[in-house]
Amino acid sequence: MARFSNKVAIVTGSSFGIGRSTAVLLAKEGAKVTVTGRSSERLRDTVDEILKNGGKTEDINIVVGDLTESECQNELVRSTLERFGRIDILINNAGAAFADPSGAIGVTVDIKLFDDMLKINLRSVVELIQKCRPHLISSKGDIVNVSSICAGPQPFVYYTFYGIAKAGLDQLTRCLAIELIEHGVRVNSVSPGLISTGFLGAVGMPSEAVKKTEEYYGSHRDCIPAGRPGTPEEIATLIAFLADKNSSAFIIGQSIVIDGGTSLALAMPSHDLSKVL
Ligand code: NDP
Repeated sequence: MARFSNKVAIVTGSSFGIGRSTAVLLAKEGAKVTVTGRSSERLRDTVDEILKNGGKTEDINIVVGDLTESECQNELVRSTLERFGRIDILINNAGAAFADPSGAIGVTVDIKLFDDMLKINLRSVVELIQKCRPHLISSKGDIVNVSSICAGPQPFVYYTFYGIAKAGLDQLTRCLAIELIEHGVRVNSVSPGLISTGFLGAVGMPSEAVKKTEEYYGSHRDCIPAGRPGTPEEIATLIAFLADKNSSAFIIGQSIVIDGGTSLALAMPSHDLSKVL
């Protein structure tokens, strides 16, 4: 029997990137999935990919909408229950960082962007969890949040507000894990480093700049020791592992770093002191 047979999953932000790869993987391994995002065109591509990988049309539910709005969250829960009758897995993947058009970084970024980043990366997750909570308790389900190494402990000055939102998400993962484990619901999280997706494009970078950024970091081993950015499929594999009770039942409330070694890279040991002495 496939790993996620008879399971129903909601994957937010599944119109592209990590969310799309996760929806495709869960569906390929037997899950019925609700896919969602603001772009209906990109959601159609996700559906095509699920079908190409052996998924069935009747096992896919599509919700187009902005996840920061309660109507979209309500529709996700309502339509999933109507189509599939239950919710077993909630993947809180949708997220984004926004650049200040003025070029400001750090704490000088427009305070409106602080609100926007908290809304999509943290508040919408809390709201959706509140709405899914009774259904996940009924199914003794699993939640996987998608955080980021920008949550710390290292500072990422270009992403201060985004990192604050993700740090909040990590604390949510821990608190919620303890709150829900007595009901048989597990909560965990993944913390990716640089992954080749639409993320930097959504921040506002032109595609040439995205390519250069990925090549630069990938070729500097004191940035990414693995020597390349990660792929969305690699993150999806970890998310699926954490969503699968048979593989990870004893992992509770953890944020698992998946970053090609970035968060271990310290500049000091990467400098060749023999050339200086
Ligand atoms: P992408 O930009 O490729 O995908 C983001 C997804 O989120 C899209 O499907 C997008 O859909 C959806 N989304 C964004 N805003 C909204 C919104 N307001 N309402 C509904 N859906 C929304 O990025 P990634 O796949 O990389 O990002 C996935 C997660 O991974 C995010 O939480 C991100 O913070 C995290 N992450 C990514 C890293 C990276 O380097 N790529 C590193 C660390 C963490 P649509 O545009 O159709 O609305």
